[in-house]
Amino acid sequence: MEKRNVYMDYAATTPVKREVLEAMLPYYSDLFGNASSIHKFGRDVKGALDRARDEVAKLINADSSEIYFTAGGSESDNWAIKGVAFANKDKGNHIITTKIEHHAVLHTCEYLEKYHGFEVTYLNVDKEGRISLEELENSITDKTILISIMFANNEIGTIQPIKEIAEIAKKKGILFHTDGVQALGNIHIDVKDLDVDLMAMSSHKIYGPKGVGALYIKKGVKLHPLIHGGAQEKRRRAGTENIAGIVGFGKAAELARVNLDEHIDKLTKLRDKLIKGVLEKIPYTRLNGSLEYRLPGNTNFCFEFIEGESLLLSLDMVGIAGSSGSACTSGSLDPSHVLMAIGLTHEIAHGSLRLSLGDMNTEDDVDYVLEHLPKIVERLRSISPLYEKVTKGGNDNV
Ligand SMILES: *Cc1c(COP(=O)(O)O)cnc(C)c1O
Repeated sequence: MEKRNVYMDYAATTPVKREVLEAMLPYYSDLFGNASSIHKFGRDVKGALDRARDEVAKLINADSSEIYFTAGGSESDNWAIKGVAFANKDKGNHIITTKIEHHAVLHTCEYLEKYHGFEVTYLNVDKEGRISLEELENSITDKTILISIMFANNEIGTIQPIKEIAEIAKKKGILFHTDGVQALGNIHIDVKDLDVDLMAMSSHKIYGPKGVGALYIKKGVKLHPLIHGGAQEKRRRAGTENIAGIVGFGKAAELARVNLDEHIDKLTKLRDKLIKGVLEKIPYTRLNGSLEYRLPGNTNFCFEFIEGESLLLSLDMVGIAGSSGSACTSGSLDPSHVLMAIGLTHEIAHGSLRLSLGDMNTEDDVDYVLEHLPKIVERLRSISPLYEKVTKGGNDNV
């Protein structure tokens, strides 16, 4: 097979779709007004803002009045957690989250612990990356004001029992925020049915532009603003709106909604073919995460006796783009906190590879990976002293 360029890092970011870019362009030229202005220039832009809000709302079955635009998933997570924490200080100082959250959640919680007197419980997850509802219930105290548990994990793709978590939160009168960044546009989400109170979203993970996202805030939920200033976003999030970005996010949300079933179907098939092929062709390999509760586009493997970084570099040389751990932590030598939480050893976690699939991938891409990955793993292992010991010793009980 001739050399291809195969992007399989859609969990890190996605390309902006052509239709999305085209929808955005006028808002960088003719339609440049400030949405808060009274004149025609302002009004023209205001309409676009409302339409984008409707589209994001429709994708998750929210009312458009419950969608607040932000500068991305990280801001939305920060806002949900700090906003609820600061608004409910008089009720309690306890927050429950998990050990496998994105750093936008984990570092926000750590900050609240360190500087604002909050106490945080970090729930364990099982081998597949799912929390225990029993452990959740047991960790609730009369000081608990917020539960923040991600919808789907960015590294291993595990989907949490969101509806059941929301039920527990509701029963105890505790607010529930979910980081929905990876789930959005990849599985069906109905916030009314799930009964979550807050959900963070990001545009660039669903084929929209970077630097724009939203927070779903259920009607009646009180939280402090994160960004103070003008009266934008119903006085809850100040700053002149990133109109072009928001329009792009709206278009991406529309496309995601219209194509959702097809998208899920396609990615699930490619994912399962990739998982099956990798596990069949490469010995001493494990799949991380769950088979049942898994994002359609996620694969994550550990290859024993090799190092994730060298694997990524070798894959890059044949045009395959994947990731080891998450984009935010690669570059550091610490193994992924997610792989640690599902019980892997440092050694094994270091040999991890995430290949996350998206709309532009094809069966040929998967075949290309299945042709090159086994050869690369074999070559890297051939220079690993540990592997030599194991294979020469005839010990396959690893
Ligand atoms: C990407 C990501 C974020 C951060 O979103 P940005 O828009 O990049 O700030 C937060 N949570 C999860 C699960 C993510 O995958």
